[in-house]
Amino acid sequence: MERYPQLVINLKHARENIENLVKLCASKGIRMTGVIKVTNGLPELCRAYYDAGCRILASSRIDQLKSLREQGIGEEFELLRIPMMSEIPDVISYADISLNSDGSVLRALNDEAIRQGKTHKVILMVEVGDLREGYWDDDELLGDAMMVEKELEGLYLEGVGMNVGCYGSVLPTHENMQYLIDKAEMIENAIGRRLNVISGGGTSSLMRVIDGDIPEMINDLRVGGEPLCAYTLKHVYGYPMEWQHEDVLSMRAEVLEVREKPSHPIGKLAVDAFGHSQSYEDRGIRTRALLGIGRLDYGEPLDIPNEDPDIEVLGASSDHTIVDLGDNKKGYKAGDVIELRIKYAQLMYMSARPDVTVKYI
Ligand SMILES: *Cc1c(COP(=O)(O)O)cnc(C)c1O
Repeated sequence: MERYPQLVINLKHARENIENLVKLCASKGIRMTGVIKVTNGLPELCRAYYDAGCRILASSRIDQLKSLREQGIGEEFELLRIPMMSEIPDVISYADISLNSDGSVLRALNDEAIRQGKTHKVILMVEVGDLREGYWDDDELLGDAMMVEKELEGLYLEGVGMNVGCYGSVLPTHENMQYLIDKAEMIENAIGRRLNVISGGGTSSLMRVIDGDIPEMINDLRVGGEPLCAYTLKHVYGYPMEWQHEDVLSMRAEVLEVREKPSHPIGKLAVDAFGHSQSYEDRGIRTRALLGIGRLDYGEPLDIPNEDPDIEVLGASSDHTIVDLGDNKKGYKAGDVIELRIKYAQLMYMSARPDVTVKYI
């Protein structure tokens, strides 16, 4: 018996998409660091990034890096989130590289690296305007870079990095990348050597690679979700992406009931299961299906990219999703399975759920 709900992954197409992005980056002298956090470290996909040429596998979650190490997948591991003071021993044990933006964290990493007899590589993050992590003040950045280079013997200053398009919705541009390069050169002049890595952002920075206006000094991008979701570059930013498979991911959910029901709730309305007041469009009597999948599995129902013209996601509670079937052309009934395309958020939630079956096709 198949078990539902399912997260369905076309592994061959995932591999081809990853390989194509690795090649695209390589054509500009850029290495692609394979970000595996959106898949919660699903081993088959982590292997796909590695096999496609991503020598560094990266996550914001140290437990995922630990698990890859234990499974023998990959060779070098990068922690993407600024280390928490409470996880420093694990960061040194399981990550070879981490992104950093705080002097006291760097000193704690150094103490632990010396204790474990290791040299841990650090990339200092520069705030270029998206307003998440990173040094804002040049003197502080330079001071910490000098401290790592000259004083902290357990650490190696690997390079600098930037991040955009996460909190502040900022686009990666030639200008903000050049700003990062200026900071890198400031540090290089002070320490008297070149930095190994100038990391120019994540998925959105691929636009600069495709357009061919990425500054030459950028030599690393951190990319994870895009080759799987095949969404942002094409559907948000309008790049043709002819060579990209768009059918890597989907969800399958079982139909629990199909009924004709009114579309507007009946009775006095207050709030939904999450305490939000909602509005409901009255479209008369409609054929609706109830699916055995809910917010607990994928987050926000209206974020599910809807491509099937015969199915409209209306809403969801924790464990149920309600869809409008129009005139139910396909004759869905209880026990049938409905398949919907998914993107980043749904992949992130579903791959973390122990009771969602991951199905490779
Ligand atoms: C998540 C993340 C990325 C990119 O990962 P995607 O899965 O491509 O969105 C890049 N850099 C940092 C610091 C991140 O946390």
